[in-house]
Amino acid sequence: MAAAIVLLATGCASVGAAPVGEGALSTPAAVATLRSEGHEDPQPGTTQPFDRSAHSTTNPASIWVVINKTHPIDAAYRPAISLVRGYQVAVPAAGPLTRLLADSDGLGLGFKIASAYRSYGYQASVYGNIVAASGQSAADRVSARPGHSEHQTGLAADLVTPASPGCDFEACFARTPGGRWLARNAWRYGFVVRYQPGSTAVTGYSPEPWHLRYVGRPLAAELRRTDTDTLEQFFAINGGDYP
Ligand SMILES: [Zn+2]
Repeated sequence: MAAAIVLLATGCASVGAAPVGEGALSTPAAVATLRSEGHEDPQPGTTQPFDRSAHSTTNPASIWVVINKTHPIDAAYRPAISLVRGYQVAVPAAGPLTRLLADSDGLGLGFKIASAYRSYGYQASVYGNIVAASGQSAADRVSARPGHSEHQTGLAADLVTPASPGCDFEACFARTPGGRWLARNAWRYGFVVRYQPGSTAVTGYSPEPWHLRYVGRPLAAELRRTDTDTLEQFFAINGGDYP
């Protein structure tokens, strides 16, 4: 009779599908475990002022480095790399990106990585191709000149969704299920959507709802808590256009 009681208690219609004891009661606990796994927010009552100097914002190996049109990255810099689904990602971001992709897969979002680490030389070819096709001023709105892309840190990744291929690298990505999920949940994995609407004058780039930048969970949570859209504003670092 135990099995019957469990089925009644959970309202489960698929009789025989679940072992006794495994039903609705286990689901909230599993969800809670997933949500809290590995990255706890500070406990109430023990909150310390956020330490904005905990990591360098100028060392390209730092998870808080700020690379923009006024703060270049050394052409020779190359991060320590780990592979995530065949793409090169800086070591600190690899585990969190793997978890983000696994959880989003579980929700049926089906993200693919379109681009992650890009060397100085590769960025030069990407930018050069866009300049050749669209001219320099148009290219500068959507692509970084070599030495000004945070993809060279290995901490950035561009995601696309095969379900909405027309929105790959387009503004409408923000309105896809995947884009909406990233905007709400990327911070849980330590990522920020780096180029947001209304911040072009600060970041120097048009909105890119597909471009994630790893900064670690504490900073991602603090940016969210303080409703701060850009690293430049949070750290009072100049951005905007090329000097
Ligand atoms: Zn990108």
